[in-house]
Amino acid sequence: MRILVVEDERDLQEAIAEGLQYDGYAVDSCGDGNEAYELLYTENYDLAILDLNLPGMDGLEVLRKIRDEKPNLKVLILSARNQVADKVEGLDCGANDYLGKPFAFLELEARVRNLLRRNFSQQSAMLAFHEIRLDSSRRMAFAGEVPLPLTKKELSILEYLMMNQNRVVSQEELIEHVWDANADSFSGAIRVHISSLRKKLKNALGFDSIATKIGEGYFLIGCGDPNA
Ligand code: CA
Repeated sequence: MRILVVEDERDLQEAIAEGLQYDGYAVDSCGDGNEAYELLYTENYDLAILDLNLPGMDGLEVLRKIRDEKPNLKVLILSARNQVADKVEGLDCGANDYLGKPFAFLELEARVRNLLRRNFSQQSAMLAFHEIRLDSSRRMAFAGEVPLPLTKKELSILEYLMMNQNRVVSQEELIEHVWDANADSFSGAIRVHISSLRKKLKNALGFDSIATKIGEGYFLIGCGDPNA
């Protein structure tokens, strides 16, 4: 899952970005409204955390301009404007959630998880696909009851495949949603991570649970599926 943090207070921006990166998200950040609009327009983020008082362009203006272009983007407003009227205006502009400053990072994390789940069929922090389970909040995956020894990147790939189970996910889509802008997101790197994830799943489950559709991408299969 890929997140853009828009916040002009540098310390806060860094703290949020680092915290979310630690949680396993791909995170970009910026501190200017115009830059935020450019990034949101050109990149495919799953979620934006949006401050309102920003240099360049006000956060609400950014939201108004981007809303029609990116209907699936989740937007969480994070603002010191805490009056009911401010919250109502933000939500009316198309924000999905509103958190006032100051805030507890634990609450921000919970709201981020909640918003990111809404696009997908799975509504709980525990994702499941046949014997594979993935706990999005504890950042751990299991084959049955056995913990899988996955790297952060492997866990993020598996999470994205589990959230999009029942369809093929292309390499480009994985790059857009699992890697941040600074990463070496060339397709060779993805293949290396997928191959390592596939081996670990196969060791635990006894069969290859990531299928490849040539020229299209990857999808999860369970034991006994016709493709397995
Ligand atoms: Ca601000």
